[in-house]
Amino acid sequence: MKKYVYSFEEGNKDMKDLLGGKGANLAEMTRIGLPVPPGFTITTEACYEYYKNGMKFPEGLKEQVLEKLEWLENKVKKKFGDEENPLLVSVRSGAAVSMPGMMDTVLNLGLNDKTVKGLAKKTNNERFAYDSYRRFIQMFGNVVLGIKHSKFEEILERFKKTKGIEYDTELDVNDFKKIVEEYKIIVKEETKKEFPQDPMEQLWLGIEAVFKSWNNERAIEYRRINNITGLLGTAVNIQMMVFGNMGESSGTGVCFTRDPSTGENKFFGEFLPNAQGEDVVAGIRTPLPIEELKKRMPKVYDELVKVKEILEKHYKDMQDIEFTIEEGKLYLLQTRNGKRTGIAAVKIAVDMVNEGLLDEKEALLKIDPNSLNQLLHKRIDPLAKKEKEAIAKGLPASPGAAVGKIVFESEEAFELKEKGEKVILVRVETSPEDIKGMNAAQGILTQRGGMTSHAAVVARGMGKCAIVGCSDLIIDETNKVIEIKGKDIVLKEGDWITLDGSTGEVFLGKLPLLEPEISGNFAKIMEWADKYRKLSVRANAETIRDAKKAIEFGAEGIGLARTEHMFFEGERIKYMREMILANNQEERIKALNKLLPMQKADFKELFKIMNGLPVTIRLLDPPLHEFLPKEEEQIKEVSDEMNLDLNKLKEKIKELEEINPMLGHRGCRLLITYPEIAEMQTKAIMEAACELVKEGYEIKPEIMIPLVGHVNEIKFLKKVIKKTCDETMRRYNVKVDYKIGTMIEVPRAALTSDEIAKEAEFFSFGTNDLTQMTFGFSRDDIGKFLPEYLEKEILEHDPFRTIDINGVGALIKICIEKAKNIRPDIKIGVCGEHGGEPRSIEFFHKANLDYVSCSPFRVPIARLAAAQANIRDMKKK
Ligand code: PEP
Ligand code: MG
Repeated sequence: MKKYVYSFEEGNKDMKDLLGGKGANLAEMTRIGLPVPPGFTITTEACYEYYKNGMKFPEGLKEQVLEKLEWLENKVKKKFGDEENPLLVSVRSGAAVSMPGMMDTVLNLGLNDKTVKGLAKKTNNERFAYDSYRRFIQMFGNVVLGIKHSKFEEILERFKKTKGIEYDTELDVNDFKKIVEEYKIIVKEETKKEFPQDPMEQLWLGIEAVFKSWNNERAIEYRRINNITGLLGTAVNIQMMVFGNMGESSGTGVCFTRDPSTGENKFFGEFLPNAQGEDVVAGIRTPLPIEELKKRMPKVYDELVKVKEILEKHYKDMQDIEFTIEEGKLYLLQTRNGKRTGIAAVKIAVDMVNEGLLDEKEALLKIDPNSLNQLLHKRIDPLAKKEKEAIAKGLPASPGAAVGKIVFESEEAFELKEKGEKVILVRVETSPEDIKGMNAAQGILTQRGGMTSHAAVVARGMGKCAIVGCSDLIIDETNKVIEIKGKDIVLKEGDWITLDGSTGEVFLGKLPLLEPEISGNFAKIMEWADKYRKLSVRANAETIRDAKKAIEFGAEGIGLARTEHMFFEGERIKYMREMILANNQEERIKALNKLLPMQKADFKELFKIMNGLPVTIRLLDPPLHEFLPKEEEQIKEVSDEMNLDLNKLKEKIKELEEINPMLGHRGCRLLITYPEIAEMQTKAIMEAACELVKEGYEIKPEIMIPLVGHVNEIKFLKKVIKKTCDETMRRYNVKVDYKIGTMIEVPRAALTSDEIAKEAEFFSFGTNDLTQMTFGFSRDDIGKFLPEYLEKEILEHDPFRTIDINGVGALIKICIEKAKNIRPDIKIGVCGEHGGEPRSIEFFHKANLDYVSCSPFRVPIARLAAAQANIRDMKKK
């Protein structure tokens, strides 16, 4: 028979998967001799079986629980359901990964009309006994029987009001007796049954309620947001109750071994005298700072300080500890690695190395790479945020925070910015045409689109706060108003809003922002990360600003410069349109020649900033229609500006329309139709390089062809590119150390990489397109079904965010193996969004890639994630 129940004596901290975090740590604290009330844990496997059996307890569970209950009774010399000396227990959830507050807990279980009397007698504290009983009915009624919390609170409030008092602690025993009776009536009314008096029945209902809470809405949502997958379920901890509500020498509290928001090494915590745990959570009474405990119960305080030191040393991490004091005796109810801000994570890691508690590698593993985000962007002052409620929530596409006035049009955003205004660009969705406005805006908010939609990718590249796919909004771009679904709020142009790009929350009005803080500790962590990583980290950048940021954040080159982004500013879009609208090659070349000096100047800047480092420049990729106007008014404007017949322009736009533009005339297909584009771009790259080499710079251009699927595509274009390179170098009489390579974005390219590797000197996985084409999911339309896929667990995670190891990852592995057979020294990187995502980086490390490339603002995150991947790898070996 499978073992489903473990006493705390039988477990340890490494059994989290089976016993949950709480269970494993209660066992560990018991093992090292700390004062933990005795108890036992029902495994996560039992929860898993419960769901598998169609919500039935697995065979053998009941017997095992009864056996352990008897063991507990003997140990603590109390009896469950006994009328003289009753054992009361808490029934608490706890999964392998901590999900604070998401699942259920029942305290004081085992009380009924008879045992309450025994408790009163035994403790000589009738008030306490009835207070515990009313708490139990309230909690059990809410958690197990599903009665609204407010039904009970109303009664409690009425009693306090009648007596003219503020706190529960001021109620006396007779009040509690009456409250208990009223609570029982509520239970009867709501459930049509008496409050269950049989402690065994209470216990089984309690256990089942905890199992069920694994799949309550809150818990599911929490797992989704935090990408928690692959767990069996929750464990259930059944533990002898100790009471913080026995009077002024009792209490309950929570403390951290260091300050979780700054990381400062100071004891940090709160406690509430004469209370049980839920009082703190309910926020009815304000807890006192931990220093107050020092004044009131100095001995207990000293003991707690000792315990926290033991725990921190034992776990080698900052701990978040729950404790209860029962008549002057300290008990520990939980310890876990404390959640902390990015700033605190970095400081604690560095401090712990300095204190000799951790070595550098261990310290690096303690930091959640994504938490570094908070050190790299502006953020909303947490104090101000606490007091505001979000009016809408979308996808947190690009972190940071932004405050500005609502604008609906790109051009207008630009103009207002020029006048010194701060604006937020609000669009149903963005297109490359909005770049100017996006650049000018403090932040971007869209109603549609996923994490790799245009707005999201561009905003991340710019390091600009963005919220996309905010379906709470109904944006009317024509009338320039926003309605908020289900709320009586209408926003107009010019209204102030604040965006939190790290959470996806939209707030009304102006909230104060804090500047990014890059401290000495942060630099130290980066230095250690660089020491232990194997993967190189480059940046996706094409503007001067981004390239400079990339260097500042430690990028070792550019892994992707999307040249199309260079065609939107100022005059360029005009020449680009001229090129697109040209009637023949001659006209096209004329327009391209106007673009050449501009591209060249851009490349020169990039090369200078990246002096000595590789710069991968991708030739034009998007379908041409993206450069043409869409709306009537804009079309008219463009026709006037370019002196073009309106109908002709419309015809051309119609001609360029495609049913599936993402699978259409784009990437290398476009360049094969119009080799003159590849020629112009190559010329711009090589002229810039030649001129700089002459000036003494070290330039390493890598010319990258997008969307190749067949070797003949690269063969064709390589000829054009190579010829241009040779000609240019001859003309300048300079040798440039350049490479020609390709993106791997089409599954066919991955599968025929042996053929392609004969032509390409490097590969860069464009995992955005590769994911799109492997799944056959349009990356701009996933908002329509992906949330449901995640909810219904069709997919474990968003494959555009975290690499799909089994599918896309398999293609990557095949691709690398075949390519290296042909060209062992081929340089292979990744430049899709996954290049900056820690879990994906772990995969890229294992797949033996040379580098990852990501937006400049993710470079430090990638550096740390790459180090962690390697450290974990070394540990295994
Ligand atoms: C990709 O497809 O992963 C990629 C980097 O190219 P883009 O996102 O520009 O299509
Ligand atoms: Mg692509």
